[in-house]
Amino acid sequence: PALSPRERAMVERRQRLLGPAYRLFYEHPVHLVRGDGAWLFDADGKRFLDCYNNVASLGHAHPRVVEAIARQAARINTHTRYLHDTVLDYAEALLATLPPALGHVMFTCTGSEANDLALRIARAHTGGEGIVVTSLAYHGVTASLAELSPSLGEGVPLGRHVATVSPPDAYRGGPDMPARFAADITRAFAGLARHGIRPCALLVDTMFTSDGVFPDPAGFLAEAAAAARAAGALFIADEVQPGFGRTGRMWGFERHGAEPDIVTMGKPMGNGHPLAGLAIRPELLERFGSRARYFNTFGGNPVSAAAGLAVLDVLRDEALPANAARVGAHLLAGLGALAARHAILGDIRGAGLSIGAELVRDRATKEPATAETARTVNALREGGVLISASGPAANILKIRPPLCLSTEQADLFLDTLDQALAAG
Ligand code: PMP
Repeated sequence: PALSPRERAMVERRQRLLGPAYRLFYEHPVHLVRGDGAWLFDADGKRFLDCYNNVASLGHAHPRVVEAIARQAARINTHTRYLHDTVLDYAEALLATLPPALGHVMFTCTGSEANDLALRIARAHTGGEGIVVTSLAYHGVTASLAELSPSLGEGVPLGRHVATVSPPDAYRGGPDMPARFAADITRAFAGLARHGIRPCALLVDTMFTSDGVFPDPAGFLAEAAAAARAAGALFIADEVQPGFGRTGRMWGFERHGAEPDIVTMGKPMGNGHPLAGLAIRPELLERFGSRARYFNTFGGNPVSAAAGLAVLDVLRDEALPANAARVGAHLLAGLGALAARHAILGDIRGAGLSIGAELVRDRATKEPATAETARTVNALREGGVLISASGPAANILKIRPPLCLSTEQADLFLDTLDQALAAG
C-alpha cells in the first residue's frame, strides 16, 4: 500500500522524535483521530471497525466516562494521602465484583505497576523469589516484569528466578493438557528449588492472550492454581486483559472456578484513562504493609477513581458482560461457519469477546500459516477492520473488539474476514 505524502512525513517525524524502539501496526499505518463505540475514524474520515482495542472496552470516548473525568477534574485532583470519598466508593464497588476473600484493593496507573506491586507483596509474604510464567507471557514493561515476560523475545533475558511452562494449548496439546499443565507447574517450581530459589508465585493471564488465547477447557486453571499452592507459591491472576467483562464474566478466572490470591488489573479499568491496581486477601498484605509504605503519586487519584466508578456503572447499566457473551458466541459460530469453507482456519476458540483463530497451512500437521496471517491482518485493515495476531508463530488472529460490539458489526467483521481469506 502506498503511503500518502502526509503519512510518510508523519512516520519520518515520529522516527526522528521517538527513536527506534517504537513499532507501528500494519504495513499501511493507521492515523486515528476520533472514536465512537466500536468505530474509529482516521484523518481522512475513513471508518474502521475496531476489533482489537481492549482498553476502550465500553466503546471509544464513552460519554459517561468522559463526563465523570471532566466533572472531577474541574473540582479537584489530588492523591491518596488525603481523605476522599470517591476513591473509597470506588474501592468498595470494585471489591463487590470480586470474591469476598479479596478484601483490600491498591491502586496504580498501569498494569505493569500492578504486577510489580503484586510481586513485591508476594515476595514479602512467601519469603521466596521463584516465579512461574507461560512461555510466551507478557506481564509488563518494568525491569522486574520484562525479565519474566518471555514474549519480549531473546533480546530480553529472563531472570534467574523465573521458570517457564508451555501454555495450556488444547488445540496442539491433546486431551490430557490440563493435567500436564499442572504437572509442568509443579516441575517448574521444583526445578527452581533445586537451584535454591524458593517459590513465590504462579503469574498467568487467565486468557493466555499473548501465548495465543487459550480458554478451554474451562476449569483447567483451578488445577494449575492448586499445583502452585501445593508448591508453596501464591496464585496471581493477571486480569489486565480478561478483566472487566471481556470473557462474558466480570473476571477471567471465574470461568475456571479458580480463586486467586492476588488479582491484577488495568487496561479497560478506566476505559482509556490510566487506571490499574490489584485486589488481595488481607492476610497476604500484612507483612508487606508492616514493613513498607506505599505511595503512588497518580495511583488512585480522585479523577481516576471517578473514571473507574463510571466504568463499573456502564458495565452494569449496559449489561456489557452479557453482550460480550452473546456477541462472542455469535462470532464463534460465524468463524466456525467460515472454517467450513476456508481450510486455513485450523482452530477457533474464545470466551466472550476474547477470541483466537489459528491459521494453519495443513490441518493434519497444523503447520502455522504465519505469512498468510500477516497478509490477512493487513487485508482486514485495508477492508476497514482492525485486528492483530499473536502466538509463537504469529499465526493466531487476536480478536478483541469493544464489549459494546453489535451483532451487525460482528457480521461486518465476518464478511470482511471471509473476503480477506478468499483473496488469500
Ligand atoms: N499484563 C498483561 C496480560 C498485559 O497484556 C499487559 C499489557 N499489554 C500488562 C500486564 C501491562 O500493562 P500496562 O501496559 O498497562 O503496563
